[in-house]
Amino acid sequence: MPFNGDIQQLAEEFESRTPQEILQWAFAEFGDDIAMSSSFQTQSMPLLHMATRLKPDLRIFFLDTGYHFWESLIFLVRVASDWQLNVVDLNRDSRWDVFVRQNLRNLPLDDPNLCCYIHKVQPMQKAVAGLRAWITGIRRDQTDVRAQAKILEVQEDGLVKVNPLLNWTKADVAAYIEAHNLPSHPLTAKGYRSIGCAPCTVAVGAGDSDRAGRWAGRGKTECGLHTEMFKQKEYAVS
Ligand code: SF4
Repeated sequence: MPFNGDIQQLAEEFESRTPQEILQWAFAEFGDDIAMSSSFQTQSMPLLHMATRLKPDLRIFFLDTGYHFWESLIFLVRVASDWQLNVVDLNRDSRWDVFVRQNLRNLPLDDPNLCCYIHKVQPMQKAVAGLRAWITGIRRDQTDVRAQAKILEVQEDGLVKVNPLLNWTKADVAAYIEAHNLPSHPLTAKGYRSIGCAPCTVAVGAGDSDRAGRWAGRGKTECGLHTEMFKQKEYAVS
């Protein structure tokens, strides 16, 4: 059943609400027809923590791209076990298997948009297709694209995207982590302040933005989950 309320008005109202209040509304509104995506890095911990305390059986989508640092996978297993999380791994469609195996090493470097489409966008499109709402952890202070986002957004197919942390800053995230003594991804202490797949992530310096280490020097700042690419149903391979 599509959401019938005035999403724009609600999104404006939510600008002055806490993430917990926004999550409470979302869980009451969408029941079990909602899931959250998480990349299981240090900055993901606050939203995971607050959301699963409100709804312990919440489905948590993890994009298992096959290109993650082993530290990320170990961290995920540890947090999922300690917090008893309902993690659902999302994998690429099998029709890409032969192509990916033939291009495994070069694909992230030669065509990162295609690689992200195969390993992130398409699996997430499929996972959210049967849902009414999708919770994400994006913040306005992360990228120019995210700065334009709204706390509630409706996609063309009626899916409501809920972004409870949109107004939070890096300092808010750090304060919540400290207040709740949340675990830290092992690579954070080594200068990896935003962690994605290994071929596309490097450590950053003290003066760099957190996301400077993502696709560094390649003119790409987003994987496509939060851009127009998410509307794309196919991707032409040249
Ligand atoms: S972040 Fe890099 S390795 Fe991961 S899916 Fe995107 S291009 Fe591929």
